[in-house]
Amino acid sequence: MSLGRTDFEALDRTDPLRPFRDRFVLPEGLIYLDGNSLGALPKDTLARLRQVAEIEWGQGLVRSWTGHGWIDLQLRIGAKIGWLIGARPGETVVADSTSVNLFKLLGTALKLRPERRVILSEPENFPTDLYIAEGLAGLIGGYTLRLAEPDELDAALGPDIAVVMLTHVNYRTGRMHDMNAVTRRVQEAGALMLWDLCHSAGAVPVDLTAADADFAVGCGYKYLNGGPGAPSFLHIAERWQSLVTPPLAGWLGHAAPFAFEPGYRPAEGIRRAVTGTPPILSLAALEIGVDLLLEAPMPELRAKSLRQFDLFARLVEQELAPWDFTIVTPRDHAHRGSQICLAHEQGWPIMQALIRRNVIGDFREPDILRFGFTPLYQGYAEIWDAVAVLKEIMTARSWDLPDHHARARVT
Ligand SMILES: *Cc1c(COP(=O)(O)O)cnc(C)c1O
Repeated sequence: MSLGRTDFEALDRTDPLRPFRDRFVLPEGLIYLDGNSLGALPKDTLARLRQVAEIEWGQGLVRSWTGHGWIDLQLRIGAKIGWLIGARPGETVVADSTSVNLFKLLGTALKLRPERRVILSEPENFPTDLYIAEGLAGLIGGYTLRLAEPDELDAALGPDIAVVMLTHVNYRTGRMHDMNAVTRRVQEAGALMLWDLCHSAGAVPVDLTAADADFAVGCGYKYLNGGPGAPSFLHIAERWQSLVTPPLAGWLGHAAPFAFEPGYRPAEGIRRAVTGTPPILSLAALEIGVDLLLEAPMPELRAKSLRQFDLFARLVEQELAPWDFTIVTPRDHAHRGSQICLAHEQGWPIMQALIRRNVIGDFREPDILRFGFTPLYQGYAEIWDAVAVLKEIMTARSWDLPDHHARARVT
């Protein structure tokens, strides 16, 4: 049976998550399918930012570090994110960027496995993950980064592997690893497991405790809706927290920062993973995004995301059959995150034509059109409309205008 726009409208009318849409600023007429790159702005964030700037900063000034609890904000938001990713209390903190946190966690893992000299990852991992690992290995000397395809991972788990670093949901294809099974195999081989949750936190159910993961890291500005450049979170399983000194030992991770001692003594628990002074305005924005997600039941978010994907995929087959789009994201629910990726040799100009028509997705080299599903604020009828616009662009060949072939600096 073929789908029509009324089917999508009906789903919007009965969608239990529909009220969340009004909690976001979303430009009229825009179809936003890029919340996996930069999440939308929650309306409450505007009021909160104004309050923090005017009252806490403007009036409270330096007193607000204690008076408004700035000094504990990283732990407070970390605890909330910990809840979203199934961490135990005291295992998650917000600090720095994902790239910097990868450095910190890889360094910690290597110190915990001093007799092993290899970081293992996969070639399709997000480039910053690989660059950071390569940089760290080069810095300390005698270490290497080795890459293995996902189906060769088991064979690569030799006695020289100290840590395995994988991104749970692949940024380009949306393919999702089996977190529990992979973690178990890695640990059975004597290595430690570091998960990058940039495309997982707030997007798919994650249970780090059930997986018994050693380390995790993730972005604040994607599905957590924390704002551009929002700080990142990191997780260290409790069993490892007190065993090593952080590779980036900053003063706010010191046991007594305001004793201003010349020597470093790490703070107890996850606080030692904090380096320097945190960005309070950005943290305040992130907290609003995280609070909103905590209001929505993850099983409902996941069910809606899976349904939106399945509908999108059916529409690609129903409406776009003449044009050679290949769905590269796995169709099987257990193996995909919250995005759909279509490969097409004209992917770049097609995405530019879509963006010109107010359908925002993004493009990833070499040929991938990426559409994110953010069930907190995304409706069903928009999916019909997005595919309808794509069909018009293909029918009229409007993607082939010279303008659409020019490359931009941010894709
Ligand atoms: C988005 C993303 C990053 C970004 O790292 P930043 O330090 O925030 O720039 C890193 N890794 C993965 C897997 C990502 O998806």
